[in-house]
Amino acid sequence: MTDTQKPVRVRFAPSPTGKLHVGGARTAIYNWAFARATGGTFVLRIEDTDPTRSTEENTQIILRAMEWLGLDWDEGPGVGGAYGPYFQTQRTDTYQKALDAMIATGRAYPCFCTKEQLDAKRAIAEAEEGGYAGYDRTCRKLSPEEAQARIDAGEPHVWRLAVPENHGPVTFEDAVYGHMSFPADVMDDMILKRSDGTFTYNFAVVCDDVNMQMTHIIRGDDHLSNTPRQVLIYEALGAEVPMFAHLPMILGADGHKLSKRHGATNVEQYRDEGYLPEALVNYLALLGWSLDGETTIIPPEKLGQSFSLERISKKHSIFDVAKLNWMNGVYLREMDENAWLEAAAPWIARAAALGAEAEGGAVVVPETQEPAKDSPLGEDGAEDDAFAAAVAAIIEDIKEDTAAYAKIYPLIIERLERLDQIPAKIAYLFWGANVQLDEKSVKKVLQKEGARAEEALRACRDVLAREDLPWEAEPLQEACRALCEPLSMKPKLLFQPLRVAVAGNMVSPPLFESIELMDPEDVLARIDGTLATVFGGEE
Ligand code: GLU
Repeated sequence: MTDTQKPVRVRFAPSPTGKLHVGGARTAIYNWAFARATGGTFVLRIEDTDPTRSTEENTQIILRAMEWLGLDWDEGPGVGGAYGPYFQTQRTDTYQKALDAMIATGRAYPCFCTKEQLDAKRAIAEAEEGGYAGYDRTCRKLSPEEAQARIDAGEPHVWRLAVPENHGPVTFEDAVYGHMSFPADVMDDMILKRSDGTFTYNFAVVCDDVNMQMTHIIRGDDHLSNTPRQVLIYEALGAEVPMFAHLPMILGADGHKLSKRHGATNVEQYRDEGYLPEALVNYLALLGWSLDGETTIIPPEKLGQSFSLERISKKHSIFDVAKLNWMNGVYLREMDENAWLEAAAPWIARAAALGAEAEGGAVVVPETQEPAKDSPLGEDGAEDDAFAAAVAAIIEDIKEDTAAYAKIYPLIIERLERLDQIPAKIAYLFWGANVQLDEKSVKKVLQKEGARAEEALRACRDVLAREDLPWEAEPLQEACRALCEPLSMKPKLLFQPLRVAVAGNMVSPPLFESIELMDPEDVLARIDGTLATVFGGEE
């Protein structure tokens, strides 16, 4: 579909009026992947021309999110390049130069009409049949001498594009929508430069895309209505019109445009919720593009080899969190233990720090109690200083003692979908001699009528207290299992009370593998605590 033999140059051009959201990230991914797949150049340009809404903080957030996603740019902030600067606010002189060139060729003219005059004309036109058809080109009829005289006299003015009379349809090629054609007569002489000296968005974007020699413009289809106007500017500049690819919208499960209502849309929030960047890139890439209609696991590297504009769909796509979670789980399981441990360290550390807060022997935690927060960053990144320091210290500890912490991996990897699920899953490993008993599990397992839970627990305790058994999952499990026959108890009835007493919950990672990781004295203390709390028996 490439209509040019020139090396591909594409750009992602976010406006730092907000953070990097899922839709923008998908646009960035497609540009990045297209550049990589074609051996082209990926440019990052910050469109910070709206001074009231652009912030330096948002720029930094966008750059950070791009880095986290692994979307490395060949030219742009931080790396420079031959076509810089890469911030629009630093490119004003290039816009003036382009305007000067257009003035010289008669493709731009000054307009002195005041807002009041324009409003009045609009009101009259709207009342008439046919309605308002745009600026009536009053000032286009001024002689160059008169226009210059009024400029010299200091009369406020804007600069407008002179759309050629009898321009046929405005056309361009779109890799997604095909050949596009719009009637030119509905497009008025748009403003290029405002009376306050600033340049308009459509003009600045085209100047940049021309000067930065973009070959393809890949962006959201919310920009589709800008494109015919921009094409007129390309023509006026005598520049080649690039190939466009307007991307279909991403919708929430309810069919509405993806927004805050649908939960996280900001990329860094996904990081904080324990998604892997590779999984998020893979998932977002498939929202509007497919490799072959069926392959779902396409790691970024493969995406960067196989992406093509031809396979972008015209149809909108639906953001499906369940599918993203599933995909994240696949990526988590594909990591080797060391890589996993590095990614999981902040969450394991949080589990350990949370676990260290447990106290009071065996405590029944009411069902109504709010579950502990899972994110390692806490609300807005703010967290209790002491807690944060404890987490940081444990992260260091994990780096030192990878072999010990790597043992957690097989315990939870099978069902893990997001790293932020880790603290809730493994906090019990760090409770020491204490145990936080989940009220529901206590009722359903320990206090269930006829379950003989106390008997089971006492029998298992005796086995675990034996000094002749190695403190390893298998022999401990086998020795406990051997109790089934003499007690005439099914394994489940025997093991579930032990699980609750040790892990606090009837749903936990593999029991004996967990026990192996714990201190024998702690395990026995938890069982004793549970017996005392739930059955009131003396130990
Ligand atoms: N700055 C625009 C935005 O953030 C993108 C402009 C473009 O891609 O042409 O929506």
